Amino acid sequence: MVEVVKEKPQKVNENLTQDALGHSRNLLLALSRAAQSIQRAHSAEEVYHAVGDQIKSLGGEVSLFMLDDQRQTLTVAHTSYAPNSLQQTEELTGISALAYRFTLDPNGIYARDINASKAIYVQNVNEYVTAMLPPGLHLFATQIAGILKLEQGIVAPLRVEDESLGLMVVSGLSLNEDDIPAMESFAGQIAVSLSNVRLTQKMQEELSARKRAEENSLLQSAALEAAANAIAITDVNGIIQWVNTAWVALTGYTKEESMGQDTRLIKSETHDPLFYTNMWQTILAGQVWRGEMTNRRRDGSLYCEEQTITPVLDGQGNVRHFIAIKLDITKRKQVEADLQQAREELEKANLELKAALEHEQHLAHTDALTGIFNRRHLFELAEHEFEVAKRYGHPLSVIMFDLDHFKRINDTFGHAMGDQILERVTQIACAELREVDLIGRYGGEEFLIILPVTGAQRAWLLAERIRSSVETFYVAIGNNPVFVTLSIGIAEMGYETQDGSVENLIHRADEAMYRAKRSGRNCTVIFDSD
Ligand code: GH3
Ligand code: MG
Ligand code: MG
Repeated sequence: MVEVVKEKPQKVNENLTQDALGHSRNLLLALSRAAQSIQRAHSAEEVYHAVGDQIKSLGGEVSLFMLDDQRQTLTVAHTSYAPNSLQQTEELTGISALAYRFTLDPNGIYARDINASKAIYVQNVNEYVTAMLPPGLHLFATQIAGILKLEQGIVAPLRVEDESLGLMVVSGLSLNEDDIPAMESFAGQIAVSLSNVRLTQKMQEELSARKRAEENSLLQSAALEAAANAIAITDVNGIIQWVNTAWVALTGYTKEESMGQDTRLIKSETHDPLFYTNMWQTILAGQVWRGEMTNRRRDGSLYCEEQTITPVLDGQGNVRHFIAIKLDITKRKQVEADLQQAREELEKANLELKAALEHEQHLAHTDALTGIFNRRHLFELAEHEFEVAKRYGHPLSVIMFDLDHFKRINDTFGHAMGDQILERVTQIACAELREVDLIGRYGGEEFLIILPVTGAQRAWLLAERIRSSVETFYVAIGNNPVFVTLSIGIAEMGYETQDGSVENLIHRADEAMYRAKRSGRNCTVIFDSD
């Protein structure tokens, strides 16, 4: 194209007058200056402005129409008209000329000129104004042409090799058809420059995108490296590709010792084979595995880690790598174990305390010699039974018995023998009782039995069984059997007369027992108010 520009002056030289010759030479000089300046441009904007400046310095006006990537619209990328002229056209049409975009009519003049390989000379550029306006604004075309002082011009495609990037419309220079090759060549220069800056820009964008990606990946690597958690990256077979510093600290293996090794390097064999099988099945299926695992350090010691293994898939969904992130929980485990032990010890101490308390309570409630309830506790239980019987209208009886002439036994055989007999009598009485009956030592050798839901008659039968058992029982001292007998009194709760208190009831049983004593002892008497 540069050739064409060089050749042109000779041709013009032959055919034109001195004036025309000067015009053409000036144009060519200007255009070659312009070509140099656009070659220095670094962006499309700089190219447009260089074109505008150069054409303007020649007394002309230029507009550049650029095709979009889909080649369906044209955009006014640059126009050199004075801002006030452009403002007037904008006020008239409501359209701003700069960046104005319009659809390329495939049968219209713009499509024709863009696809033409040659520039054309146009006598009146009004037609071009009309063609870029929407139909409703066609009537303004003449006015616009007037404002912009549009005259004849040259329309040249901006071609690079076989591709057209758009169109250059130059007007206002006293142009003629002989200027076509020069303009065509200039348009070619513009197109090449535009194409170059576009390419450069694209390359720069790609470069900076790549740089960003590299920076990102550097950042990510740094983050992985600096992470507090131990991290290992393995291939799909579990061969270690990379580990971070925390991993080195956790396992005791250096990076050099670890990389290229199988993860079995740290396997502890403390887990069931099934444990490892399950883990591998999960991650090979592309799923994340989480769990606690015991592994072995370089020095042979075991540690417990909480581990997350994330499979990394390629574009086809195949597992390529695994990223294992580990948290050492040995200390936490130890603390947990210590806590558990402390809990267990506390629980044991609690149980012991409870047992001691129960024992104490038992002692507080029982009589040391016979093991049955003592007077105070029995009295409490009797009060309770009394209230229950009263509330439900159940019968309640009490039996009071006392050993006959016990003083004599003590005096004759000694206190220890007396104690022994008291124990045996207690056993005999207890053997006759039901689960619900309550027996206690009321005094020295006086006993009290509470019989819930029992009337006096049934109480009498029970008392008689106890009395006759005791009567037949004896202790052999040397060759002499020593017998004891009981005097027994019974009282039934008189709910028809509303016994005021359990003391009353016990008192009446006591009274009945004294009647038994007076009646000659070794007998049972039911209290009778008469
Ligand atoms: P009675 O038939 O009238 O009841 O005659 P008794 O001799 O049993 O007279 P009393 O009930 O008044 O005497 C109670 C005696 O029981 C007095 C005491 O020596 C004896 N005694 C009381 N508590 C105990 C004890 O814990 N062990 C022994 N060995 N004797 C006791
Ligand atoms: Mg007695
Ligand atoms: Mg007594």
